Amino acid sequence: MTLAIQLTYLVATALFIFSLKWMSDPKTARRGVLAGVLGMALAIAGTLIDPSVIAGNYKWIALAVILGTVIGIPLSLVPLTAVPQRTALSHAFGGFAAGLVGTAKFYYFVRGGQEVPLFVIVALCAEVLLGYLTFTGSLMAAGKLQEWLPSRPIIYKNQNLINFTLLVAAVVCCGLLIYDAPRFAYLFPVVIVLALLFGVLLIIPIGGADMPTVIALLNSYAGLSAVAMGFVLNNKLLITAGALDGSSGLILSIIMCKAMNRSFANVLFGAFGQVQAAGGEVEKRAVKSATPRDAAELMEHAGLVVIVPGYGMAVAQAQHRVREIYDQLTKRGVSVKFAIHPVAGRMPGHMNVLLAEADIPYEDLVEMDEINPDMPQADVCLVIGANDVVNPAALHNEKSPIYGMPIINAHKAKAILAIKRSMNPGFAGIENELYYDDKTLMVFGDAKAVTGEIAKCLAGEEGGR
Ligand code: NDP
Repeated sequence: MTLAIQLTYLVATALFIFSLKWMSDPKTARRGVLAGVLGMALAIAGTLIDPSVIAGNYKWIALAVILGTVIGIPLSLVPLTAVPQRTALSHAFGGFAAGLVGTAKFYYFVRGGQEVPLFVIVALCAEVLLGYLTFTGSLMAAGKLQEWLPSRPIIYKNQNLINFTLLVAAVVCCGLLIYDAPRFAYLFPVVIVLALLFGVLLIIPIGGADMPTVIALLNSYAGLSAVAMGFVLNNKLLITAGALDGSSGLILSIIMCKAMNRSFANVLFGAFGQVQAAGGEVEKRAVKSATPRDAAELMEHAGLVVIVPGYGMAVAQAQHRVREIYDQLTKRGVSVKFAIHPVAGRMPGHMNVLLAEADIPYEDLVEMDEINPDMPQADVCLVIGANDVVNPAALHNEKSPIYGMPIINAHKAKAILAIKRSMNPGFAGIENELYYDDKTLMVFGDAKAVTGEIAKCLAGEEGGR
């Protein structure tokens, strides 16, 4: 039996590793998801065939399976734009589970009067601390993204000092528990309360739109708490799966910070989104606007059209109308490429997922670094609900909050068409000089409605005025 369990765990670990590898490319991402699902199914099966787990616990396990299914199915049906908050909830559950297991284990050891090995009690403290802070931190993140809580940063005096003091207090309590767990057992609930509080206080000063980065970081904490839980329970699969989860979360948050040209410290303590206007002013000239019909005519005579999708395309769910435009243009022999910025939208891979859903061929999705050298050759750059990722201020305005963030060089195209509803700014809260450029034509309106009109015009149907 032990051999069967170990083999199942080994295959599950391999599947998790392949899953991460495959998920890093849109072409293989679906296979990656399937490998992850299969790995998790094997991990659960391997755990359930373990006699020490299952003995006398059938009813509780059945109850947990039913509860998990009842909560999990509706969670899997949320719209794509709600995926960041759904992911945050998953991390909250993961952190809570680790915290509860750690709590149960602690009282099992202490009440049973057992000698707890030093390494186990250290791992247990790490598990409880990280588990509970991930729980409340992720709940706060989900609440901010869903706008159940104010999404702007909540700032008060000495905030970082208070947070730091709380963390130090929790670590000191853990130190005493490690020194003599039975003697200082009364401090264990204090550690739980401090960790829960720290999770809340860590997240409230962070702006709602920074949450995807923070969620990737909380993912990494949840993974680390799973690693600690693996050491406490002596379960190798939990250790490897937790390490993969923890490291991938950390790598993802580093990639996101780099793509936004922000440091970790700035995301965690910078209260981004609080004061935005400084350094964002641009010379406001009259903007030129155009109708969807004008846009269609401009594009059908182009040789190369580069489409830059952004957050507005995601909220409007315009991807299928964009696909129609793509079909109409390519039918006419126009070359159409999609320029993908790593932080366009509100989660990593947001644009890839939407465009894949609309069946846009992968080879026409081009990463920012690859498309930028071709931008001067683009006859038209069609910006759909994107703003910060095409803001040239990032290249030259040192005072701009997005200075240094790599952008898609839409301003280098021969002509620019920008679809958005108003002159309102995007996530960074700053004006975009691209819209005031002489080469830019604004096509005002909801992205789905406007792209629908353009597609109709290209198809030769009435509309688009
Ligand atoms: P932005 O948030 O900069 O801009 C989106 C634009 O879409 C807005 O200016 C808005 O203008 C427009 N818009 C909104 N709704 C609609 C609609 N229904 N129809 C048409 N237009 C609409 O988005 P970008 O994708 O350019 O940039 C993403 C930003 O998010 C970056 O600053 C990035 O750093 C940040 N970010 C991204 C993360 C990621 O993982 N992708 C994570 C964290 C932050 P209007 O209201 O006038 O219509």
